[in-house]
Amino acid sequence: MTMDIAAVRADFPILARTVNGKPLAYLDNAATSQKPRQVLEAVDRYYRQNNANVHRGVHTLASESTVLYEEAHQKAAAFLNARSWQEIIFVRNTTEALNLAATALALGHLKPGDEVLITRVDHHSNIIPWFLLKERFGILTRMVDALPDGTLDLEDFKAKLAGRPKVVAMTHVSNVTGWISPLERLIPLAHEAGALVVVDGAQAVPHFPVDVQALDADFYAFSGHKVLAPMGIGVLYGKRELLTRLPPFLGGGDMLETVCVVGGVCSLCLKALPWKYEAGTANVDGAVGLTAAIDYLAGLGWDAVRPHEESLFRRTVEGMRRMKHVRLIGPEDLSRRVGCVPFTVEGLSASEVATALDGEGIAIRSGFHCAQPLHERLGLSSSARISLAFYNTEAEVDRCLAVLESLG
Ligand code: PLP
Repeated sequence: MTMDIAAVRADFPILARTVNGKPLAYLDNAATSQKPRQVLEAVDRYYRQNNANVHRGVHTLASESTVLYEEAHQKAAAFLNARSWQEIIFVRNTTEALNLAATALALGHLKPGDEVLITRVDHHSNIIPWFLLKERFGILTRMVDALPDGTLDLEDFKAKLAGRPKVVAMTHVSNVTGWISPLERLIPLAHEAGALVVVDGAQAVPHFPVDVQALDADFYAFSGHKVLAPMGIGVLYGKRELLTRLPPFLGGGDMLETVCVVGGVCSLCLKALPWKYEAGTANVDGAVGLTAAIDYLAGLGWDAVRPHEESLFRRTVEGMRRMKHVRLIGPEDLSRRVGCVPFTVEGLSASEVATALDGEGIAIRSGFHCAQPLHERLGLSSSARISLAFYNTEAEVDRCLAVLESLG
């Protein structure tokens, strides 16, 4: 299936702007995605027509807002192929989702001295929440190493499973290299070793369909803002049995059926899933935006999105492979990667490269991309990173390649 790229780009108002007098070429999509007008309009419409606090009134606006919020849970459940919308907890972002999973597991599943297996390939947001459990709960972490190409060391993974970790926390797609982890092999191994599996899906969901049932992930996290939705809405999927058994992380309004205080002692009756984990006023506009984002992607279809992204990715890598002053990072085999291209340029820092591109209206990321352990393994303190989305064009890639060529 092909995509009408001009029509798609017309849906994204920001893509029409200029930066430093040049048309914007936004190649920093792994940091955050741009938003189509369908998402902008859905959020605008929500505030113009429906805005009210959910689950807190019988009036019409409160009912409409509640319906929209609950529909968003259903939409996210279908997006991940969860069994039930009650397995979808809305949070701010992937970071909060992973902190919620780590804290709930520490409170209700793990004991002092238990081990969590984390990986060097992960973003800090799937490393630090687990490290923090040591001081608070006495829970230990061990890190699976990476290979020199930035992929997970599968032999080390298997060897460390022999230590019988209680939880394995790992990414679906690396935010540095775009490498797609073979979760279909790794999750069964982790389960056989007796571990629960927490997956960071932040860089997976914008690029291909994810099926949490087929993967058999116990928890799966993503951020709406990386997949066309507004900032501030994220998802934690958890298996119903686990979410039912584990305790909540936040306490407050809207997560309780009843609170009785007898003789100074509070007795709480928590609400059913997912509300038990969603204390406080919800991000309803974010949820409405997420619904519109998922609908927008469904309208395009993965069959149209995937080949376009793959072809842009190959064009970028092939162009850069011809440049002697550019060092590409990441596995050679592009078939198990999404469109992330980390690299260094001889004689220039990553931020000098990004600044040179910005001067031409081209946005890319520089730094260690919240993945310092991986950069350390690669022998780098930082890198530049081009990350592509389906609304990018060959012309944008070629403009970027021309500037990179000129830096040699
Ligand atoms: N995990 C991965 C793989 C990411 O790429 C990112 C953000 O770049 C995150 C987690 C954190 O996402 P957020 O900042 O939306 O919580």
